[in-house]
Amino acid sequence: LAKEKGKNTFCFYNLEMDNILQQRLEFESDLRKAIEKGQFILYYQPIIDFRKMRICGAEALIRWLHPQKGLVPPTSFIPIAEQTGLISQIGKWVVVKVISDMKNIKKSIDYNFYVSFNASLREFSSANFVDDIIYTVDSLNGDFSSLGIEITESVAMADIQSTIQTLNTLRTRGMKVFLDDFGTGYSSLNYLKQLPIDVVKIDRSFIANMIIDIKEQKIAESLINLSHILGLKVVAEGIEDSQQAEILKSFECDFGQGYLFGKPLPKDQFIEFAKRF
Ligand code: C2E
Ligand code: MG
Ligand code: MG
Ligand code: MG
Repeated sequence: LAKEKGKNTFCFYNLEMDNILQQRLEFESDLRKAIEKGQFILYYQPIIDFRKMRICGAEALIRWLHPQKGLVPPTSFIPIAEQTGLISQIGKWVVVKVISDMKNIKKSIDYNFYVSFNASLREFSSANFVDDIIYTVDSLNGDFSSLGIEITESVAMADIQSTIQTLNTLRTRGMKVFLDDFGTGYSSLNYLKQLPIDVVKIDRSFIANMIIDIKEQKIAESLINLSHILGLKVVAEGIEDSQQAEILKSFECDFGQGYLFGKPLPKDQFIEFAKRF
């Protein structure tokens, strides 16, 4: 009986695994089609200058408009794009799209404005990454100084020497560098000092808890002060209420991003939003 049961269990798992594998393969082939058919959209979330209380930039955030599933968030497909290598094509599309959207946005916003885009590990560490970006920006007549790149600590740390080189090249051209989700990775003072970056983005987990947890609030304050000591600007991510914003302002945080100010929006809606802000 035990043997029988064992056999059945084995069969069950086998089917289950088959199913998972099947879904995974379908997802991958859908993702490939999405690239061919151009099913991605960039949304833009405003970043606010706390001192002027106006929009100074935006973060470009990708979504996949799936023909059946609707809008798929990046957390559901970026990891698979990374694993399959499809990320390099997606990443290139993002840069091209950011540059063309930027031209539109700049027509409607008459002051200095930047857009930052995210780069994940596999794209950032690919050999052609910098050359591709430079080629794309130059050939589209883009403006490096209104572009920012966001990488997380773990991406930055994967190969710190090559990270430093890559970032130096991009910064020499005028691009800004954002250290994303700061405080959740390997936050080491030693490398924070070494990295050629412009802006630290404090992860929203600190912001979310700062009202209820005084320790989190102190950590946020310390991260802001530390960044300033190192000559870096600070964005607080995930600000959802005005109490958080007021505290962050009192800590002299430079910039804020979050649902309080605005959710990510498609380009045209973002432009309308920015005009009225
Ligand atoms: P991220 O770069 O840290 O982006 C911030 C995420 O926080 C976005 O989620 C944004 O919609 C969300 N967010 C902003 N304000 C608030 C708030 O007040 N409350 C809450 N709960 N969430 C807020 P999203 O758009 O789902 O993106 C998730 C992650 O996917 C991004 O995290 C980034 O790591 C990655 N990602 C997005 N676009 C791209 C892309 O074009 N390329 C790559 N490689 N990764 C991307
Ligand atoms: Mg980001
Ligand atoms: Mg972030
Ligand atoms: Mg994140």
